[in-house]
Amino acid sequence: MGKKMKVAKLNGNIISINDYSQEKMPGDLQCRYCEASLSYVKKHSRDLGDKRIIVGHYFRLKPRI
Ligand SMILES: [Zn+2]
Repeated sequence: MGKKMKVAKLNGNIISINDYSQEKMPGDLQCRYCEASLSYVKKHSRDLGDKRIIVGHYFRLKPRI
């Protein structure tokens, strides 16, 4: 579950993941199309078998409650 997106809406403005800073830009992230709430996933590494891969940052749809 969770669709990865590179663009989101923050306080009414369209913002690219590359311009986003969690520390400097407080506010609710939303999908640019349907205004669903998004969360931000930082760049992180993950072990896949005996390899370590870097998973890029992205916006992700929050699960519906
Ligand atoms: Zn949407």
